[in-house]
Amino acid sequence: MKIAVCVKQVPEGTKRIDRATMRLDRSGEGALNAFDAHAVEEALRVKDAAGGGEIVLVSMGPAKAADALRKALAMGADRSVLVTDDAAAGADLVGTSRVLAAVLEREQADLVLFGQQAADADGAVLWSAVAERLRTPVISQVAELTVADGKARGKRQTEFGYDVIEAPLPAVVAVSDAINEPRYPSLKGIMGAKSKPQETLTLADLGVEAGAKTEVLALSDPPPRGDTTKIEDDGNAAAQIVEFLAEKRLL
Ligand SMILES: Cc1cc2nc3c(=O)[nH]c(=O)nc-3n(C[C@H](O)[C@H](O)[C@H](O)COP(=O)(O)OP(=O)(O)OC[C@H]3O[C@@H](n4cnc5c(N)ncnc54)[C@H](O)[C@@H]3O)c2cc1C
Repeated sequence: MKIAVCVKQVPEGTKRIDRATMRLDRSGEGALNAFDAHAVEEALRVKDAAGGGEIVLVSMGPAKAADALRKALAMGADRSVLVTDDAAAGADLVGTSRVLAAVLEREQADLVLFGQQAADADGAVLWSAVAERLRTPVISQVAELTVADGKARGKRQTEFGYDVIEAPLPAVVAVSDAINEPRYPSLKGIMGAKSKPQETLTLADLGVEAGAKTEVLALSDPPPRGDTTKIEDDGNAAAQIVEFLAEKRLL
């Protein structure tokens, strides 16, 4: 069983927009997108259940995204492929999906796992764009995954109950953060990660372009809220809220 896991490095801490470039400021520390740790964990479980195989991490990002990949390697993935290229900075969804799909075409994995969303751009959409390019089925928001007999079966919670969706492999699966509890890398895993294969590719290596077809034209702060009342809890906040709602005739 060959499993590819798409992981992204995201900025740590408070999000800040760089007004000059109108992009998210990625100059500070980065971390493995927490949603993607669930995808890595699930890949490890699927590999174990299959009795073996290979887990390859796939990412596009700045060179320092290699740190996030090392964390996922320390969890137990086997190797990584990072596409890093100045021409990819500012890539939008279309560009990002094109690059990831090009790597995945090369890898020919049985199963491609994604997290549910990236904690910076919060698109929660890239997996569907990649699946469309690969012409494979996609199951999203998967909270329970079984892979057997050449099929992926995903259970997901809906507003009214559960969906159980089955797809033939190869398939793309985006896991929800309810699917598992990601393991912490062990010291042995952290040391071992340094010697695992970490491939770095440019856009030219893949023969693709990553540019943006969209452009951010303007940014503005949300308008200040008008008629607001802030209640500080000095011990009788509940009474103040009741009084406020009564005044507005909402009680
Ligand atoms: C004009 C414009 C410029 C932009 N510039 C940038 C930019 O410079 N840098 C940037 O990161 N984004 C940029 N974006 C946002 C870009 O659209 C998203 O990063 C990209 O489409 C992925 O969407 P997302 O991050 O919302 O991922 P989601 O759709 O929320 O991610 C879902 C899952 O996809 C996987 N994933 C997401 N991104 C990657 C990745 N890069 N590599 C591997 N796996 C991934 C993860 O498994 C993740 O859990 C820009 C958008 C626009 C419109």
